[in-house]
Amino acid sequence: MTTQIMTGSLPDTSPPPPVGLLAELTHRCPLRCPYCSNPLALAEQAAELTTADWARVFQEAADLGVLQLHLSGGEPAARHDLVALVRHAAQAGLYTNLITSGVMLDAARITELAEAGLDHVQLSVQDSEPNSADRIAGFPGGHARKLAFARLVTSAGLPFTLNAVVHRQNLDRLDEIVALALELGAKRLEVAHVQYYGWALLNRDHLLPTRAQLDTASDLVAHAQTLHRGRLTIDYVVPDYYATEPKPCMGGWGRQVMVVNPAGRVLPCHAAESLPGLVFDTVRDHSLAHIWTYSEAFLAYRGVAWMRGACQGCPKAEQDWGGCRCQAFALTGDANVTDPACRLSPDHHLLDVAVQRATAPIGNFTYRERAGTKKARG
Ligand code: SF4
Ligand code: SF4
Repeated sequence: MTTQIMTGSLPDTSPPPPVGLLAELTHRCPLRCPYCSNPLALAEQAAELTTADWARVFQEAADLGVLQLHLSGGEPAARHDLVALVRHAAQAGLYTNLITSGVMLDAARITELAEAGLDHVQLSVQDSEPNSADRIAGFPGGHARKLAFARLVTSAGLPFTLNAVVHRQNLDRLDEIVALALELGAKRLEVAHVQYYGWALLNRDHLLPTRAQLDTASDLVAHAQTLHRGRLTIDYVVPDYYATEPKPCMGGWGRQVMVVNPAGRVLPCHAAESLPGLVFDTVRDHSLAHIWTYSEAFLAYRGVAWMRGACQGCPKAEQDWGGCRCQAFALTGDANVTDPACRLSPDHHLLDVAVQRATAPIGNFTYRERAGTKKARG
């Protein structure tokens, strides 16, 4: 499948600055989640930006107007310089959020991170039931380590959000996942349905929930949001495969967020490298400010000029920005068309077809692995 990328014209003025920067510090991670948002071609450690590179990028982000820095991966704690990176970010005046699996951080390092200025922790869990969680993560003993990590985080006085990626193989335990968030003292719970590109697309037949599961989960979340108001905030978005309207992915392409991958390439969204034909500038060659305004990849789908078909002239165009380009490409082979999550898309039926085909038995994941390593099944 190929796609022709529509290249936007160079702007006369700079766009409003991004609110957030997602820094993918490394693609290294001890876990092997079969829905990992990292690309299929994982960056090697030798290609990663240095501490000094990241410190410069953080300062450039702050100068550009970025407020929030999300330190992500892979597993960001796989970087030995994580504490130094947090200190640089805090000195630049950025609000720092660490997105972590929690399995590589002990009490001493958490204390160092808090002292370096870390503002917030986002911990991912794969399930509420330990054996299932470890099977999904492909990491025996991981769930117990996450629970211990959560307790250390609250002891260190850091606020944290629990992030639960949900799908067919854990959605029936959503009630227990909410209870876990309460027990651990999380202030916020993100119930995040899997997004289907990269590793998740490979595993889609094992992960897509049924309509009945989704309806039960949606009712449960609505009830829990009311029941726990003031104690636990629960974020929940209906998954695209059951939606009739697309979501403004990343707040719109090149509108709110920049992603810097481990090798320094700057992306409008973390899955953008799945789109063939786009050229991504790197922080080794250009400043973030230059890339935000002039990068071909950011211009390609910024605004509404690129739209065609159902999106062209649609009154929702400046609300959902045509949905997700990566999903449009993943489902149709053409990144320029309306996101099939939209009921007005001529490709909307592709979502139903995928749901009807998703009857694979529990297990049998294709786990996240580096290229050249044997694919594991679970
Ligand atoms: S999704 Fe899983 S494998 Fe991917 S970075 Fe996060 S913890 Fe690691
Ligand atoms: S046609 Fe395009 S702009 Fe209109 S609602 Fe659908 S995705 Fe959004």
